[in-house]
Amino acid sequence: MNQSEKPTALIMIFGATGDLANRKLFPSLYRLYQKGKLDRFAVVGVARRSITNEQFQQNVRDSILSADSNDTNIDDFISRFVYHSHDVTDSNSYATLNQISDELDQRYQLDGNRIFYLAMAPEFFGTIAEHLKMDGLTNVAGFKRLVIEKPFGRSLESAQKLNEQIRTAFAENEIYRIDHYLGKEMVQNIEVIRFANAMFEPLWNNRYISNIQITSSETLGVEERGRYYETSGALRDMVQNHMLQMVALLAMEPPIRLTTEEIRSEKVRALRSLRQISGEEINQYFVRGQYGEGNLNGEELVAYRNEDMVDPKSNTETFVAGKLMIDNFRWAGVPFYIRTGKRMLTKQTKIVVQFKDIPMNLYYQTEQELQPNLLVIHIQPEEGITLHLNAKKSGQSLAAKPVKLSYANRGIDGINTPEAYEKLLYDCMRGDATNFTHWDEVALSWSFVDNISRVWENTPEVSFPNYESNTMGPKAAHDLLERDGFHWWPVTMLDVETCK
Ligand code: NAP
Repeated sequence: MNQSEKPTALIMIFGATGDLANRKLFPSLYRLYQKGKLDRFAVVGVARRSITNEQFQQNVRDSILSADSNDTNIDDFISRFVYHSHDVTDSNSYATLNQISDELDQRYQLDGNRIFYLAMAPEFFGTIAEHLKMDGLTNVAGFKRLVIEKPFGRSLESAQKLNEQIRTAFAENEIYRIDHYLGKEMVQNIEVIRFANAMFEPLWNNRYISNIQITSSETLGVEERGRYYETSGALRDMVQNHMLQMVALLAMEPPIRLTTEEIRSEKVRALRSLRQISGEEINQYFVRGQYGEGNLNGEELVAYRNEDMVDPKSNTETFVAGKLMIDNFRWAGVPFYIRTGKRMLTKQTKIVVQFKDIPMNLYYQTEQELQPNLLVIHIQPEEGITLHLNAKKSGQSLAAKPVKLSYANRGIDGINTPEAYEKLLYDCMRGDATNFTHWDEVALSWSFVDNISRVWENTPEVSFPNYESNTMGPKAAHDLLERDGFHWWPVTMLDVETCK
C-alpha cells in the first residue's frame, strides 16, 4: 500500500468533459496540488467529443478559476493534463490510450501507478473495466486502482453483475466505490465523536438513547436529471448509499483498530443487523412521497410529474422516510428514523441523537416540559455539533431552561473544510480505502432496499403527489414517529448558527 504523503500516479478520468469532472474533480486535484500534496502526477482526460489538448486545458483552467476565483498561477498544473478523444465502447482506441499513458508515465516518472476514475454513466463501467484489462492498461509496474461513482447498480442483481465485470480486471482492494458522504468532514467525525469521548460511548446504546433521526433534505427539485431520477427515485439515489452509510457509522461497534479492514468489517456487521422487512410490513416502516406544486418566495414551483423528462403519471418517489431497527444487543428497541427528499423546506443533512428522559423531573419550566438531551451532528451545509442540555433559568426560581453548547467547524476554525472529493481523491492516491464502500456493504444495502423497491414498484402510490413543494414531506412521515411517541425535531430549533 502506498501511504506516502505525496503519492505518485497517472490519473485517467473517463468522462473528463462532464459535470462531475469540471465541478468537482479538477478543482479538488488543484487544491491538493496547491497544498503540495501532489508531486509527480499527470492526468489523461477521456471523452468522446473532439477537442484539442489546448481546449481541454482551457476547460480545466476555467473550472479551477470558477471554483477558486483568485488563483491564477496554475500553468504547471494545467500542463500535466492531456486529452484523448475516445468512445469507451470502441475497442480500437484503448491501445492509443495505453501509449499516451506510458509516455506520461515516463515523462513524469509515475512508477507505473494508475488510477482509473470513471466519471461516467454507470452503464459503461463494466465495458471500460474489461477493456482496461484486455488492452493492457492495467498491466502496470505500480498500483492500479479503479474509482467508480454511484449508482452502483439499481438492485442487488444488477450490482452483482457489475461487480463481476469489474472484478475481472480489478481485485476488491483495488476498487474504490465513491460515496461522497464518506468524504464529508462531519461524517468522518461521527467515529471521532463516538470513540474519542468518554461522555458519549458509555451512553451510546439502548439504555440511554431513545431514538436517532437522520435527515438529508434538498430544496431543489430534480432539475435536469429527470431521466436519471425516473429510474432511481429517492430510495435508490439516497437511502441505499448515503443514508445507510450514516446509519452504519452511528450503529457500528468500536473497531479494534482504525484500519480499513476493521472499520469496514464493523460497518458490515451493523448492516447485517438491520431488521429485514418485506411485503405488508413495508408500510409500517417506510413512507414514500412525491412533491406536488408549491411556492417559494412568490415563485411557483412545478410538481415532479411536470418536470422535464418525467412521466406525467410517474410513480417515482422523491421523498422517503423510514424506521430502521438494528436487532443486536446494543440497539434492540431503538428506532433509527431516516428521511430524505427533494423540494423540501431546507437544504441540510443532520443527525439528531435523542437521549432518554431522566427518570424523574425535579425541575419545571414555566413554558414547556423539560427537554430531552440531544446531540446534533450537523453534516451540511453547516458543519458542527450541538449539545442540547437543560440548565437553571436565571433568577430565584428553580426552573430549568434549554441551553445549547455548540461547536461549528467554520465559525471556530475559520477555514473551509476540504471538499469531500479532495479528501477522497487523496485517500485513493495513498491507497486508503477506509472511506470508500466495500462490496459487502453495497450488497447488504441493496438487499435491504430491494425488498422495499419491489413492493413500491408493484403497488403504485395512488396519493401521489402527496406533499407540497417547500415543506418537510408528507404527513405520513410525521405519523411514522408519532406512532412511537416521537416527533421529528424541527430544523429551525436545531440550527447551529443560532446556538449560543
Ligand atoms: P455528464 O455531465 O453527463 O458527463 C458524462 C461524461 O461522459 C461526459 O464527459 C461525456 O463526454 C462522457 N461520455 C459519455 N458517453 C461516452 C462514451 N461513449 N465514451 C466516452 N465518453 C463518454 O455526467 P456527470 O454528471 O459528470 O456524472 C458522471 C457520473 O458521476 C455518473 O455516474 C453520475 O451518476 C455520477 N455522479 C455525478 C455527480 C455530479 O455532481 N455531477 C455526483 C455524484 C455522482 P462526451 O459527451 O464528450 O463523450
